[in-house]
Amino acid sequence: MNKITPQPGIMDIALYQGGQSHVAGVEHVIKLSSNENPFGPSPKAIEAVRDSAAALHRYPSTDHASLRAAIGERHWLDSARLICGVGSDEVLQFIAQAYAGPGDEVIYTEHGFSMYPIIARMAGATPVMAAERNRQVDVNNILAAVNDQTRIVFVTNPGNPTSTMIPEAELLRLAKALPKTCLMVIDGAYAEFVDGFDGGASLVDRFDNVIMTRTFSKVYGLGGMRVGWGYAAQSIIDVLNRVRQPFNLSLTALAAAEAAVNDIEFLSFCQAENARLRVWLSDELAKIGVPSDASCTNFILTRFADRTEAEACDDYLKTQGLIVRRVAGYNLPNALRITVGDEEACRRVVAAITVFKGGVA
Ligand code: PMP
Repeated sequence: MNKITPQPGIMDIALYQGGQSHVAGVEHVIKLSSNENPFGPSPKAIEAVRDSAAALHRYPSTDHASLRAAIGERHWLDSARLICGVGSDEVLQFIAQAYAGPGDEVIYTEHGFSMYPIIARMAGATPVMAAERNRQVDVNNILAAVNDQTRIVFVTNPGNPTSTMIPEAELLRLAKALPKTCLMVIDGAYAEFVDGFDGGASLVDRFDNVIMTRTFSKVYGLGGMRVGWGYAAQSIIDVLNRVRQPFNLSLTALAAAEAAVNDIEFLSFCQAENARLRVWLSDELAKIGVPSDASCTNFILTRFADRTEAEACDDYLKTQGLIVRRVAGYNLPNALRITVGDEEACRRVVAAITVFKGGVA
């Protein structure tokens, strides 16, 4: 052989789809496709980033002690049992890399986050999809897919792109039924939008094989900084730290996240505005014949007659400078996922879809 070839399995890894922020020929776009915070980051996070600039010649903290302490205090968690990553994507990747490999299986659910099969393959493991039922995670289907090779089960709660919650009793049933040799990862990227939901922390405290992951990319408005974290048993955190690069988070990212987690006032403002505008957006779209399931996150999953109509609507929205998300790749071909933007963005979406549906905006 006289050709450079990648390792076996690398070319089976799908390229991540999403993150589009430009439309050819359209100057001003409103991006509603990545569930970002329309109100930006906390002003205190911006200030902290500016302040951190004077120390840019220094390496950042390797153990993230200060950020972990702030997260621990805010969420009432033992900071020694926290790990921080470059977005929760990286924490999810640590988990797959450390606990799954060739010959192992990793379960994710039908409409679950698209990175799960990608990181399973990056670790050399085989992703296995468990069907959902009416856009809800189905614990029976997950358990039916479990076998001796299963090492990890990923569930998103609340779901993306479904925005549905797994009932507490069902999550508990799953945690109890999984073999102790299999990890259960509760991905709570949108947990802050759900009043009273602990993201799965109480299950982590009860079961040594349960891990919770969270992010600063959504309600905290720090997607550009790339900070996420995980909470698990000490023994798991000790393992995950071995596959973590020593300086994985930048100085500015650490400063921004710490300031953001301490700015409770800004957090409450974003949560309240999102809840108000989400109801308005879904109600107005329902009135013009575009229903969506009840949402508990910062996006809604709108339903169209079929895939053709959903894609035609998406194409039309693009011409109006509105980028939303097709979710055919999540096995939801007749749906579009729309991030709840600020008031102007929500009004523009409703006006544009009204015109698309043949009405007068
Ligand atoms: N989990 C879910 C369910 C998500 O929707 C996302 C981002 N789209 C992530 C994890 C990863 O987020 P990040 O890496 O920005 O923390």
